[in-house]
Amino acid sequence: MCRHVAYLGEACSPETLLLAAPHALSRQSHAPTDMRGGGTVNVDGFGIGWYPGATDPVRYRRTGPIWADAGLAGLVGSLRSTAFLAAVRSATPGMPVSEGACAPFGAGQWLFSHNGVVPGWPDSMAELAGKLPIADVLRLDAPTDSALLWALLYDRLRSGQPPEAAVTGLVSEVDRAAPGARLNLLLTDGERMIATAWSHALSVHRDATGVVIASEPCDSGPGWTSVPDRHAVFATRDSVDVVPINADRSS
Ligand code: GLN
Repeated sequence: MCRHVAYLGEACSPETLLLAAPHALSRQSHAPTDMRGGGTVNVDGFGIGWYPGATDPVRYRRTGPIWADAGLAGLVGSLRSTAFLAAVRSATPGMPVSEGACAPFGAGQWLFSHNGVVPGWPDSMAELAGKLPIADVLRLDAPTDSALLWALLYDRLRSGQPPEAAVTGLVSEVDRAAPGARLNLLLTDGERMIATAWSHALSVHRDATGVVIASEPCDSGPGWTSVPDRHAVFATRDSVDVVPINADRSS
């Protein structure tokens, strides 16, 4: 079920959370501890997006295991960013292994990741996909549930929905279309992070340096809080709110 992590805070290198911490994302790719029946390892690709400053975020995505990229340590070691989002992928059976299928997905200032699966894909999502402009469907990064979730979310964002409502509204909508969907979503624009725990593991860590949202705690230190199922996390540099998601909402 993939693993993801996002950070917001003082400028730092992603190296710690991706590679160096005892349970960094790279370790979670081959030795995850809380997959909840959704796969065993996350070796079908990885990606990271970060904010270089004046421009939109930069994304680096590759197929294959995160540990097999000989250049990654040098790349992330040379970066400093006040926000980043990274993910390792375990492809759902039947979905392709390709660079475009790896998170982060994105447009403009947004970076997005999905941990989980939409049951009955693609038929269960055909009606929702049919509401998108056809050009958006043709432009999907990959024929996967995650890429379609991103297209649906971006459609809400560009129509002006607040990102918090866009994310929780999408979870409710997809859960109705495909009951049993696992929908751990993670979204950032570099100024805020929005995440959902929907049938999968999620933890939050906050200290004076910044806020981390991760599928699994990246170390055994204090400060990690497990997010209850069917809850959303709304985080800025200064605040972390954990709120229940109302699955009955019609938005
Ligand atoms: N279903 C998505 C994919 O195949 C996400 C997979 C996952 O969370 N393991 O890309």
